[in-house]
Amino acid sequence: MAQEDHFKKVLSHAKEYGYIFGSSEIYEGLSAVYDYGQNGAELKKNIREYWWKSMVQMHENIVGLDAAIFMHPTTWKASGHVDAFNDPLIDNKDSKKRYRADVLIEDYAEKLNQKAQKEIDKAKKRFGDKFNEEEFVTTNERVIRYREEQNRVLKRMARSLEAEDLADVKALIEELEIADPDTGSKNWTDVRQFNLMFGTKLGASADTATDLYLRPETAQGIFVNFLNVQKTGRMKIPFGIAQTGKAFRNEIVARQFIFRMREFEQMEMQFFVRPGEELKWYEHWKETRLKWHLSLGLGEENYRFHDHEKLAHYANAAADIEFNFPFGFKELEGIHSRTDFDLKAHEKFSGKKLQFFDPELNESYVPYVVETSIGLDRMFLAVFSKALEEEELENGSTRTVLKLPAILAPVKAAILPLVKKDGLPEVAERIINELKWDFNVVYDEKDAVGRRYRRQDAAGTPFCITVDHDTLEDDTVTIRDRDTMEQKRVKIAELSGILHQKVDFKHWYKD
Ligand code: ATP
Repeated sequence: MAQEDHFKKVLSHAKEYGYIFGSSEIYEGLSAVYDYGQNGAELKKNIREYWWKSMVQMHENIVGLDAAIFMHPTTWKASGHVDAFNDPLIDNKDSKKRYRADVLIEDYAEKLNQKAQKEIDKAKKRFGDKFNEEEFVTTNERVIRYREEQNRVLKRMARSLEAEDLADVKALIEELEIADPDTGSKNWTDVRQFNLMFGTKLGASADTATDLYLRPETAQGIFVNFLNVQKTGRMKIPFGIAQTGKAFRNEIVARQFIFRMREFEQMEMQFFVRPGEELKWYEHWKETRLKWHLSLGLGEENYRFHDHEKLAHYANAAADIEFNFPFGFKELEGIHSRTDFDLKAHEKFSGKKLQFFDPELNESYVPYVVETSIGLDRMFLAVFSKALEEEELENGSTRTVLKLPAILAPVKAAILPLVKKDGLPEVAERIINELKWDFNVVYDEKDAVGRRYRRQDAAGTPFCITVDHDTLEDDTVTIRDRDTMEQKRVKIAELSGILHQKVDFKHWYKD
C-alpha cells in the first residue's frame, strides 16, 4: 500500500476501533487536539507503563516525579523559553498557508537524501552480491553530489538560525526555489520568530493576576526539584529523575495527526552526571534508548539516529531517534546532553544553590545533565501505524490486523463462547472472572466465531479463547494467536500461565 493510503487507513482505523477521536468533534473539533478512546487510553497507558518500568523500576539510580503543569513564571525565563522557544515561520502570500521555514528546508534536504538512496538501491540491484556500498557512496558522482548539497543546505540553515539571521533563511528558501507544498507558489513573506508557549492567568482580578505559562516541556519540573529529590532520596551521582506528563505548544503547523499536537504528553528522564562525563553518558543513553525501542519488535530498519546540526542553546550534543512513520522518517525521541545550563540558570534566577557534594571528589559542583525525551503520542503513532496491516491470506481473502506488541495491546484476550447456549456463556464468564485479576479481557458472543476473530484481529487483541462443547467434557479451550492464526487446545487452568508468558514485562524486556 502506498504510504499516503496507509496513513489514511491509520486515521480511519484509529477512529473506527475506539483508539483516537478528534477533540470536541460534535463542535467540529479543535485543530491538533485529540482524545483517546476506550482502546486508545489503554494503549497509551501501556506504553507509558512500559517506559516507566524500564526506566524507573529497572534502574536503582532512577526515581520518578510528578510535577505540576503550572510553574512559577520565572522558571521559563531561566530556562530560556520566554526568549528563545521560537519557531521560524513563513507564510505563503498566495495560498495564505503558514509553514515552519526550517521544516521546508529540512524536507528539501530529505528529498536529496532520498535521491541518493535511490541511486544506491539501483546499484544494489544491478550488482547483487558483488555490491560494495561503502565504496559506491564514496565514489559515485551523483551520490556524492546529492549528499554534499544536502550537507551544504543543512549547514547553512543551522548557521543562519544560530545567528538569528532570518533574512538568510528566507534567501535560502528562495535560492533553493522551494515552493508551497500544497500549491506550488513561491511567493513567500519574510521569516519571523513565533513563541510556542501558551499563556494563561492565575488569580481572581485582572490587576492582581499573574501571567503563567502552560509548560512546554516536563523537564523544568525535574530541574527545579533536583535538590528535593537528591536530598530526600539520598541520591548519589550519577542518578536520574523520570517524569511523564502533559506539555503544551502552540505549534504553527499541526497537520500530521497525533505526530504534532498542541497538547501532548512527554516521557522524560534527566540523568545527572559529573561534569566531563556527560558525553560518555550521552552515548550510553543513545544506545539504551534504541534498545528499548527494538525490544518492541517493530523492525530495526524502522529506526535511525539523526545527529543535530543546530544545537539548542543548552546542548553540547544532541541526536534524535527517528522512526519510519507513514510519512517518512521523523523524530520520535530526543537524546540531549544539556550541560549544566538549566541548573546554573535556575541558580542564577532563584538565588539558591543547586549543587551536589560529591564525597569521592570531596567537592561540590553543578551536575551536567543528559536527557532522554520521548513523546508518548508519537510513540503511540509509531506503534499503531506499524502494527496496522492488510494481510493477504492463503485462501485469497484479506484481513485487517492490528499486530500490536502483546504487552501494549489494550485487551489481552477475548473470551468467546462458540454458541450463546448450552452453558457455554457461563463457562466463558468463569474464565473471565479468573483472568481479569491480572489481564484486561473482554467477552464477545455476537456473530459467528470467524467474524469475532476478525473483529478482534482488527482491534489488536492478541489472543482469542473459545469455549465449545468439548470444554464441558474436558475443561479445555481453543486459544488462537492473532498473528499466526494458529489454534491450540489447552486446559483452562493453563490459560493464566500462557498469558503471563506472552504479555509480562519481564518476558519482553529481558529477552
Ligand atoms: P520537533 O522538531 O518535531 O518539533 P522537538 O525537537 O521540538 O520536536 P523536543 O522539544 O525535543 O521536540 O521534545 C521531545 C519529544 O517530545 C519529541 O521527540 C517528540 O516525540 C515530542 N514532541 C515534541 N513536540 C510535540 C508535539 N507538538 N506533539 C507531539 N509530540 C511532540
